[in-house]
Amino acid sequence: MTTNLPKLQCLSERVFRVLGCNPGPATLQGTNTYLVGTGNRRILIDAGEGVLQYKDCMKQACLQLNCTIQEIIITHWHLDHCGGVADIRRFTNSLNLKVSKLPRVPFQEEPVEYGGGYTFLSHGDLITTEGATLRVLHTPGHTDDHMALLLEEEGAVLSGDCVLGETTAVFENLRDYMNSLKTILNLAPSLIYPGHGPVVKDAVGWLKNYITHREHREMQLLSAMQAEPSRSYTPSDLVSIVYTDIPNNLVKLAIVNVHQHLKKLEEEGKIVKDEGGKQEQWRCRL
Ligand SMILES: [Zn+2]
Repeated sequence: MTTNLPKLQCLSERVFRVLGCNPGPATLQGTNTYLVGTGNRRILIDAGEGVLQYKDCMKQACLQLNCTIQEIIITHWHLDHCGGVADIRRFTNSLNLKVSKLPRVPFQEEPVEYGGGYTFLSHGDLITTEGATLRVLHTPGHTDDHMALLLEEEGAVLSGDCVLGETTAVFENLRDYMNSLKTILNLAPSLIYPGHGPVVKDAVGWLKNYITHREHREMQLLSAMQAEPSRSYTPSDLVSIVYTDIPNNLVKLAIVNVHQHLKKLEEEGKIVKDEGGKQEQWRCRL
């Protein structure tokens, strides 16, 4: 069950959330998009998925705040964060509205239908508007181009999908992902405005939970493998040993996660890949 969130909500003096109107199992209440600043030109962080109703919500938010959109920043390439760019460009009557993100690593062109025409930012860049200074943080792991933003005036972090307001996040590279969680934790943020779900008030505690959750899994996997050190394990072997009570519909996701853990442990030299088998499998380093 997810917490109910209103479509429009003022969260602080300088942060206003507009829901992307795209709720679902992967997007929770829908993608959170944030208008940031205090003046009559604000920065929009993420643009939703391109749902018609979202454009109406954004119009209403701009009326309520008496503002227009200065520019858009996209936290990462996933459609639920950039699919609404074209709609926002049309609604602001500014086809040249600046839309920025971090480039893909390795670089690749962004699909035009998702917005395209991006300006590329770098880690450490500052983006400012009246009442708000945002510092770009490259936080890969969920995706290779993922960005979080430090809102300096509040010491708060807009975390994109690196940290969610509810449940844990998915990732495509666990090693990068863990490092990104630690990058955010090192800032000791006062609050997290996540890409999905409610505002995280105990930001440091929540980040530590995320980190311990993954470290705990890693230890479980290693000790399962050490119990029979000469045996090779596929991700699904380990899921059946370690994830003893998950519902059937989550098994696939668990296999993907375990696969990521095994790749990380291999990169760290703690286990070795067994090239002999038909399927990908790993065993302890003897
Ligand atoms: Zn997302």
